[in-house]
Amino acid sequence: MNLKSQLESSLTSDQLRILRLIADEASQTGLPLYIVGGSVRDLILGAAIKDLDLTVEGDAIALARVLAKRHGGRVTPHSKFGTAKWFLPKELRTETSETLDLISARSETYKHPAALPTVKPGSMDDDIRRRDFTINALAVRLDGANFGELRDDLGGMDDLKRGIVRALHARSFIDDPTRMYRAVRYAERYGFKIAEETLALIPAARPLIEKLSAQRIRRELDLILEEWNAAAVLARLADLNLLRPIHPELTFDPSMQERLANLHTYRGLQHLSPRNVTEGERMRNSDLGWLLWLMSLSQEQVSALNDRLHFTADLLASLFAVSNLYVVQTSFVGLKPSQCVERLESYPIAAVEAAGYAANDPRVKECFDEYISKWRYIKPHTTGNDLKTLGVEPGPQYAVVLCRLRNAWLDGEVKTDEEEKSLLRDLLA
Ligand code: ATP
Repeated sequence: MNLKSQLESSLTSDQLRILRLIADEASQTGLPLYIVGGSVRDLILGAAIKDLDLTVEGDAIALARVLAKRHGGRVTPHSKFGTAKWFLPKELRTETSETLDLISARSETYKHPAALPTVKPGSMDDDIRRRDFTINALAVRLDGANFGELRDDLGGMDDLKRGIVRALHARSFIDDPTRMYRAVRYAERYGFKIAEETLALIPAARPLIEKLSAQRIRRELDLILEEWNAAAVLARLADLNLLRPIHPELTFDPSMQERLANLHTYRGLQHLSPRNVTEGERMRNSDLGWLLWLMSLSQEQVSALNDRLHFTADLLASLFAVSNLYVVQTSFVGLKPSQCVERLESYPIAAVEAAGYAANDPRVKECFDEYISKWRYIKPHTTGNDLKTLGVEPGPQYAVVLCRLRNAWLDGEVKTDEEEKSLLRDLLA
């Protein structure tokens, strides 16, 4: 089977130009060159191709160096893995990509269950067999006259057509238990079934989940929380009893499911007021996902989960904060804006955002949303300098007066500069 026309219609002309250029160089050096893995799967499914995984049967670093010599740019090699990052010269950069990864075909073996693999240079056959699922083990050859030729050693095409996620061998999940999470993620993403024989491998591998490092298991969960249907993935993982083995406090109940259900339609703080949100405040979808998922847990539960998953410091602070906001949220009903602001200012903005997103009571939602988009930016026109000019003795009174003026704006007691000045006169009288 040849996928030349799919390649030509799915890739941008810039991407194709680079591919052809690399393929030409590979042909001249006699190195078989392939796209492998997820990009082939997505090419066949007609889904958007995010990044091209280019694999060379031979020395990818040497190939990258020849390419840089001929076309410009520079190469960062990673000799341990036989991979090279080519920083493309200006003329070859595309809108979406300034670098290209070239990977040497390799074999991977596992010294212990759940350990990281031992990597050695290998043949394309090895490289295909080290992969997780048949649908991710397809390759398309690019060099010479073979451009577009599909290599399907393990029946991946058939599984793609039938919608099946199938592990490559019986030890797959024992070697790498993260693959169980990947299987569910792909199955739910594409609406595929997990092969019965693959599901049957789960019980033997489940006890090995606890051996996975915090970083590896958290990465899988991050990837899941980036999925458009994260809620479905987590529900399936809970059904398959793959959450509790990570940590007994990690569950997925209906209220969690409800909170995460529409995550993919959420555009972040932008919907509130794009001008009032700084770049640094924009949360990754996975972080918002964690907050929505875990907000109903107690502080102790969050702390216990952190011992297993090692959240980043920012996310952990937001998790503690949102767990607290979740408990006290109804106490915000009926408060004046100034009172809401006073309380919310001690919380990370991500926690307020998540709590506002998930709140069932519209009054709570409005309070948190207004705080994020408007209230927190409201300041009196009077400044400390003005107070100095008016002869007020510097000291704690400055903060008291300025806070009183700000609250007056927040609560609608003053609406104009004149009214603020009049209130200031009263306060200083
Ligand atoms: P996604 O669309 O989720 O990014 P992807 O298939 O591109 O999917 P990557 O995590 O970028 O996923 O991995 C690229 C390829 O590397 C996979 O398609 C698969 O062939 C292989 N791979 C990734 N993780 C594993 C793993 N844990 N075990 C075996 N092979 C893996």
